[in-house]
Amino acid sequence: MQVLVINSGSSSIKYQLLEPDSGSVAASGQVSRIGESVADGTVTVEHHSDGKTLTHDGAIADHAEGLRVVFELFARGGHDLSGAGPAAVGHRVVHGGEVFYEPTLITDEVVRTIDELSALAPLHNPANATGIRAIRELLPDVPQVAVFDTAFFHGLPDAAKTYAIDAKVAARHGIRRYGFHGTSHEYVAAQAARLLGRDLTEVNQIVLHLGNGASASAIRAGRAVDTSMGLTPLEGLVMGTRSGDLDPGIIPHLARTADMDIDAIDHLLNRDSGLKGLSGVNDFRALAERVDSGDPAARLAYDVYIHRLRHYIGAYLIDLGEVHAITFTAGVGENTPRVRADALAALTPFGITLDPTRNTTPSHSPRPISTPDSRTKVFVIPTNEELAIARAAAHLIT
Ligand code: AMP
Repeated sequence: MQVLVINSGSSSIKYQLLEPDSGSVAASGQVSRIGESVADGTVTVEHHSDGKTLTHDGAIADHAEGLRVVFELFARGGHDLSGAGPAAVGHRVVHGGEVFYEPTLITDEVVRTIDELSALAPLHNPANATGIRAIRELLPDVPQVAVFDTAFFHGLPDAAKTYAIDAKVAARHGIRRYGFHGTSHEYVAAQAARLLGRDLTEVNQIVLHLGNGASASAIRAGRAVDTSMGLTPLEGLVMGTRSGDLDPGIIPHLARTADMDIDAIDHLLNRDSGLKGLSGVNDFRALAERVDSGDPAARLAYDVYIHRLRHYIGAYLIDLGEVHAITFTAGVGENTPRVRADALAALTPFGITLDPTRNTTPSHSPRPISTPDSRTKVFVIPTNEELAIARAAAHLIT
């Protein structure tokens, strides 16, 4: 059985055709710069299949056109999606609000509701719904499943999900902490339990998803009990371009004193803050190079990043009491030994000790990086949201 997994952004579509049991990927690729005018020869679709890369260049007007090109490239690469095709399509959807908290078979009404939830995720849900509509037209007979980024955090305890604002205002506008990256946190937590050789229900763990977006979660017996992202993916850790936590008083202060309207402030906090705002670069590799070359702004950005990360680790150690595993995942978490070392430095009194050799040995496999006698095990586990979505979709239709 093969499942096509689709992750639609506002100007991009990432996709994979994969086998949910083995995880074997038959083809994958990305459509970029949707809706933009591009120079002649600009590659807008890159498709990888059986070790070959096929490309399409030229402007892509909208998601439907992007997917039509993708289907042609699939056919050229030897996979006819419109013929035998995938058994299901799994769509990543960012915000499920209070409505969706498990993988959901897509109907007209489900797509409408995903659109209605756009007020909570204006950058993401409209793009997700557009991608779903386009694929439903191309593959009308194939079941489609939505998998929500918020779902894993649906059951957060009231104390962890409630903001201390007027309760009536919060209820009227759906204001609570929802959490994001849930598919990744859930997948990684299951892998960590397997590495420990224990059932998920016996394990307390902290998962640190450190990519361009970044979030932390505290998981007790397989259930999320806290997470760093909130109503939107802006809260919490320092990210590539997002500020993470700040004093909410900064927002009216900027409105009053910097003459910024709400869209300008939204843009500042989501696009021009975080590592980029502090150092000028959002990519962690570029940041690390600047730190090494002695750039003081990059050094400060790095230090703020680590300071915030340690705050969350400390909070979740207290939330959970006994912690069996701390796991690093996503682009930065999987590839940056110094972040892992600095995040967990001097925590031996808390039963957490990294092994420097294990931590710095490059590998793409799930692995322990703590010392054998560290009471809390520390792991690096590559996340695989596509595989988790494919498995969820396959599970729902069989
Ligand atoms: P993600 O959002 O999970 O794709 O992660 C993107 C972030 O991971 C970017 O800041 C990248 O610079 C960083 N990243 C990806 N690969 C590496 C690597 N090999 N070494 C250091 N950072 C990396």
